[in-house]
Formats: sequence, structure tokens, C-alpha cells
Amino acid sequence: MSSIANIACIDALAVEGKRTFIRVDFNVPIEGGKVTDDTRIRAAVPTIRHALERGARVILASHLGRPKGKKTGFSLEPAGARLAELLGIDVVLTDDCIGDGARKVVSDLRDGKVALLENLRYHAEEEANDEGFARELARGVEVYVNDAFGAAHRAHASVEALPRMIPVRGAGYLMHSEVKALSRLLGQVERPYVAILGGAKVSDKIGVLENLVGRVDALLIGGAMANTFLKARGLGVGTSLVEDDKLPLARAILSKAQERDVQIHLPKDVRVGSGRDATAAEIVDADAVPADRMILDVGPATVAGFRDRIVRARTVFWNGPMGLFENDAFAEGTLGVARAVADCAGFTVVGGGDSVAAVARANLGGRFGHVSTGGGASLELLEGRKLPGIEALRVEG
Ligand code: ADP
Ligand code: MG
Repeated sequence: MSSIANIACIDALAVEGKRTFIRVDFNVPIEGGKVTDDTRIRAAVPTIRHALERGARVILASHLGRPKGKKTGFSLEPAGARLAELLGIDVVLTDDCIGDGARKVVSDLRDGKVALLENLRYHAEEEANDEGFARELARGVEVYVNDAFGAAHRAHASVEALPRMIPVRGAGYLMHSEVKALSRLLGQVERPYVAILGGAKVSDKIGVLENLVGRVDALLIGGAMANTFLKARGLGVGTSLVEDDKLPLARAILSKAQERDVQIHLPKDVRVGSGRDATAAEIVDADAVPADRMILDVGPATVAGFRDRIVRARTVFWNGPMGLFENDAFAEGTLGVARAVADCAGFTVVGGGDSVAAVARANLGGRFGHVSTGGGASLELLEGRKLPGIEALRVEG
């Protein structure tokens, strides 16, 4: 099981005057040479600022897009420019992440100054976790810090082979808080422990479902994922999204829950429409979905029932919207669950790209114990897997 044990946070590392390599996630959307969403850059700023204030010589590295080992397009230049604005200091961009140019920039760095290495994925060796490439990146590096939680589930050279070569290593603030919060959900938690799972597909979340069903007291299921479970229980789901090949799995999860005395709550009522573009929702009982209708959200009785469980919980994990929340007619279920989680006084964690977007839309930011930005990495951690980028940071105490 992944835990925070033996992983130092950057504030415990002696970075003063040291060449400190910080792996960040600057894989941001760029249009017309400008960063259109700087959330990931902002998320790394506390770690970078801390290192600079301590007088570290900061070397930043990231991947961007999929240049497939070629040095064309996908330059980190716009990300560097945005970072320079956020920090209010110059950020030098190297022409490549390894080689003579990069080596000179790194060796000339002064205390409290920052350089950004050009896109790691200009070299296919990055994704191949190549030792030789990692050794090139390691030249002159005295301290290694990983703050790219979103890339922690990938065994790539800058997150796996490289840190193992640098004895003084640890996690940035973002990485540290993610690992701490998510691994807490897999350890001894205060009960009742409630997990809410939704989203598009059962198949995306099988590992999480299987791992959590053995840990939680109640599992609340909504979103299109619930359709497969409703059908597995023999209910008609009209024209809803269903994964027929996952019906046996849904049945297996339902019976595993029963054996372990875990309550699984499926929607009692649902909001249906003629299709994804429907402008109005009709509310029907879950056992009375018309054959020509699609389930696009959970209903008000379901939200009330879920809310009751959520506000009384001491630990809550939520991943996956309850419906097609991008369409206002089908957003109420997701917003209702978001409010319930915000109103819970226990330890609450929200994860998943779309779930986090829904929470942001509900203006509830700051009312959750932890909002995970990790996407794939958070889910893999909750599946109980060891993530290469986290394991590589451990230093035996
Ligand atoms: P996350 O990114 O939080 O992990 P997912 O990617 O698994 O969540 O699922 C989010 C998507 O699922 C959203 O685009 C949402 O519209 C869709 N969705 C949820 N419920 C339904 C439904 N009943 N029918 C169709 N799409 C749904
Ligand atoms: Mg998603």
C-alpha cells in the first residue's frame, strides 16, 4: 500500500544553495502561444517559491503533450512565460533538457534563480524510463523533488529512474498533500466511511470499486455507472448508457458487498430525458424508466438519501459526477452531492477531473478536506497500487 512513510516533504530538505531539480506538471493547454489554463502551473508555485526563498538553484522539468521523441512543437516556452509572470522573476528556458546548452545553464545558475528545461518528451528515453537519459538529467543535481502528482503513476525517467540516483530527495507540497490525503483513505479511518462513485463508466473505476468495497461502510453509486448496476439488479434502463459486458462484474461487486455487510445504495429515482441534448428532465422511479428514455441524473429522493449518509459520515471519498452535469437540466444530482460533501464535518476527499470541475462550478471550493488534481494517479492510488513516482521518493529511514 502506498503511504507517506519515508517520503520527505520539501520543507524538510536542505535545499539552500543546492541545485534542486523539481519535476513539475506543466502539461497545460496552449493556444496561439499562450497558456489557456494555468491551474497546474499555479499548483506548483508554492513548492517553487519555497525553494527559491531558501536560496536553492532551481531546475524545473516537465513533459508537454506528445511530441513522440521529436523536437518539434510542444515547447514549454509559454509555460515558462506564465511562470515568470506568477513568480515575478526571470525563468530561463534551455534549448533542450539534456546536452551542452542545458548543462551550461544549470552550472551557471545562482542561488534563488530558476531555469526551466525544455520538454522532457523531446526524448523517447523519457517514457522508456531509460537509465542513461536519467543519468544525463542527474548531472550536477544535488536535490530531487517531485511535485508532479499527475505523472506519478507513470514509470518515466524523470519520475522513476532519476530520483533513485539522487540520495537527497522528496515530495513537493502538492505531491505530499495528495499522497497524504489519498493514502489516509486506505488506512485506519474514522467511521462511518462512505464512498460515492459515479461518472461515465464502470470500466474506468473497476479497480477502485473493488478496493473500496472492502473498506467502506457504504458505497453510494450514481452517474452512468449506476445504470449497469440497476440493470444487473434486473431493472429496465431504457436507452441509457450501459456496459453490458460489465453486468457480471456489477453482480460480483453487489454480492461481495453483501458478504461484507457493506451497504450499496443505487438511485431510487432518476432524472430522464429523450437524449443528451434534452432541455428538461422528467423524474421517475428507478424501476419505472420508460423504454425510450435515457437516465441522465439521479433524482431528488436519491440525493436526499445520499445526503443523509454523507453528512453523518466521518470519512468521505467522492469520485465521478452523478449525471450529465454539463447539461444544466441534469446537474442537480451532482450539485446536491457536492453540497452534501461540503456540509460533512468529517474528512472529505474529492477526486477526478470532471468531479473537481463540478465542485468548482458549485462554488464550494475550500469546503473539502482535500481536492485531488491527480486524475489517473489518484484513481490508481485508490486501487491500492504502488505508484512508481511515489515509491521512487522513499528513502529508508
Ligand atoms: P471523473 O473525471 O470525475 O473521474 P468521469 O470521467 O468518470 O468522472 O465521468 C464524468 C462524465 O460522466 C461526465 O462527462 C458526465 O457527463 C458523464 N455522466 C455521468 N452520468 C451520466 C449519465 N447518466 N449519462 C451520461 N453521461 C453521464
Ligand atoms: Mg473524467
